[in-house]
Amino acid sequence: MFLELRNKILNFLNVFLDLIYNQKCLCCSCAKTDELLCKNCAKDIHYLSNYAHRIFKNIPFYSATLYEGNIKKLIHKLKFNHHKKASIPLAQILYKYFKNIPQKNDYIIIYPPSCFLKSAQRGYNHMFLIAKEFSKLTNIKINKKLIKKIKYTKPQYKAKNRHKNILNSFQINKKELLNVNNKTILLIDDITTSGATLEEIINLLLDYNINKIVCLTIAKT
Ligand SMILES: [Zn+2]
Repeated sequence: MFLELRNKILNFLNVFLDLIYNQKCLCCSCAKTDELLCKNCAKDIHYLSNYAHRIFKNIPFYSATLYEGNIKKLIHKLKFNHHKKASIPLAQILYKYFKNIPQKNDYIIIYPPSCFLKSAQRGYNHMFLIAKEFSKLTNIKINKKLIKKIKYTKPQYKAKNRHKNILNSFQINKKELLNVNNKTILLIDDITTSGATLEEIINLLLDYNINKIVCLTIAKT
């Protein structure tokens, strides 16, 4: 109840501040532009090469950028400062990179679901916001129901504990299998560190013979 009220107040404050002040760049706070990311800050984003930086069980992993500078700022704003609008430039950055990677047919977007508790704490699922904006840019549909989170996982900072921590955290919603049949799963996420979360989801999909998968993250550490 308290969390819900706090989230409503924070959201209201952000909308209110946008109304009384002109739109400012989310990274440098300059008001020179009506865009959420000014040209200078956009120029500062360095895109990685358009080949897979990693292959796991034949699945390519692509990352648009490194987790640093303005990317880090935008992700922090979205995840921890209630700036839902940061999902828009983040999706644009992902889209700009995505257009240049080898394309597959008939994609469907999925993202790692967060557990109920985390979404409730934040008031929204930040990956859903990014996926929604990315879907608008690409015209690729999102499937929100294919993967369910069934275990609460504490954030893990030590890479060696991540795989153990995330084990058996997700479940497939069997009713959705028909809807993704023959499609290529475009599994998107904000940051990849050890790859544990994405690997856990891939293992689950492979168990159900879903093997046309491409992983795409905004940033990698
Ligand atoms: Zn700026």
